[in-house]
Amino acid sequence: MPSNVPDLLALPGIGTYTAHAVAAFAFAQRAPVVDTNVRRFVARAVAGEADAGPATTAADLRAVEELLPLRPDVAARASAAFMEIGALVCTSRSPKCAICPARARCAWRASGSPPSTKPGRKPQGYAGTDRQIRGALLAVLRESAGPVARTELDLSWPDAGRRETALTSLIVDGLAVEVRPGVFALMGDG
Ligand code: SF4
Repeated sequence: MPSNVPDLLALPGIGTYTAHAVAAFAFAQRAPVVDTNVRRFVARAVAGEADAGPATTAADLRAVEELLPLRPDVAARASAAFMEIGALVCTSRSPKCAICPARARCAWRASGSPPSTKPGRKPQGYAGTDRQIRGALLAVLRESAGPVARTELDLSWPDAGRRETALTSLIVDGLAVEVRPGVFALMGDG
């Protein structure tokens, strides 16, 4: 396993986050590890913003790298600390500033913890989603005393294409099974 970020990035399937995390946590390298929690912590403590806003990978990496101590092993410990503080202390809804090791130098706290000026994230709806279609299919299978014919499942959702895609995904995920051509059941009931 390579120990530096460029060589780790050259491996298939290894992205920026993983390469930096392996370099920092397995090899004590000075590599910024940036997840959502770290971005929020840095946005508050350094930039004085309530939220980090949309991800901008290069800028986020630079912002966190600037905070890392120069000694690689100490920087790696700082990376772990940033992640823990972001996940457990500087939480999205109720930051525990009283126990935060950064409270004395936190820009957001010093400015009175103003509300976010960034546009809120749109909550994901449920109506019309693949999850709803899968749920409708599963409800039919669950409520039936035995295997269910495709014609019966057809009544659960009007769009045939999306219904078929959802049914296939349930089979692939191991939640449903086609017990014989055109007849379906919950996995385990078939
Ligand atoms: S003092 Fe509060 S807002 Fe600032 S970094 Fe710590 S937990 Fe987050």
